[in-house]
Amino acid sequence: MKTTTCPECLESFSYEPKILFGHEVFTPAECPGCVTARHMATEKAEQQQEIDRRFGVWNRICPTIFHDTDPDRLPAELRPLADGWMSTDGTGLGFVGLTGKCKTRAAYLILRRYHFDGLRVKPMNATRFGQLCLEKFSDDAQTRGNAIQELQDLKTAKLILLDDVAKERFTERVASELFGLINDRTEWKRPILWTSNIDPAGLRQALGSDKGDPLIRRLREFTRIVKV
Ligand SMILES: [Zn+2]
Repeated sequence: MKTTTCPECLESFSYEPKILFGHEVFTPAECPGCVTARHMATEKAEQQQEIDRRFGVWNRICPTIFHDTDPDRLPAELRPLADGWMSTDGTGLGFVGLTGKCKTRAAYLILRRYHFDGLRVKPMNATRFGQLCLEKFSDDAQTRGNAIQELQDLKTAKLILLDDVAKERFTERVASELFGLINDRTEWKRPILWTSNIDPAGLRQALGSDKGDPLIRRLREFTRIVKV
């Protein structure tokens, strides 16, 4: 055993020297107590950094008006879902009902839980989705690249929100992109949250039956529709 002084706490401590080819190697720089304290401090700092990072990301993806939703003010059907719903088998949720029913607020509360559990989420509203479907074919390489990346993120995120489905009229391009997205996610059992002011019958009308039927079949099969 050798004894040395810890430069951190100035206490002396003993250790078993490791000798290699006649030279001492791996000489401890600090006493075991200080080493442990340093590791714990580093770990705590890293945890705090991760928490800060998650808040930073959340503030970027969640519009400010949805930051301080009071779950008690949600409709009774949505409250327990906002509070505790997690998909266990890839099945998602569809909130259908009139404007002002806090459908989007409830959906963001679910996204928030996923996000702070470390799972990647991506909210998307109908207007932006329509825009991406156009930008995907933009002449500008950066616009095109961003759109393709965002559409890809929608396919792979752990949970997505399609907000206000059928708010905009469906062009052929939007309908086909939406069908591809829903198809892709359901094949990988990745859940979808969606909200709409119109029910599946209305959706079918908005899409036309050739595009609408398979899409609605998928939504019905892979999301639990909650009317509010
Ligand atoms: Zn020490």
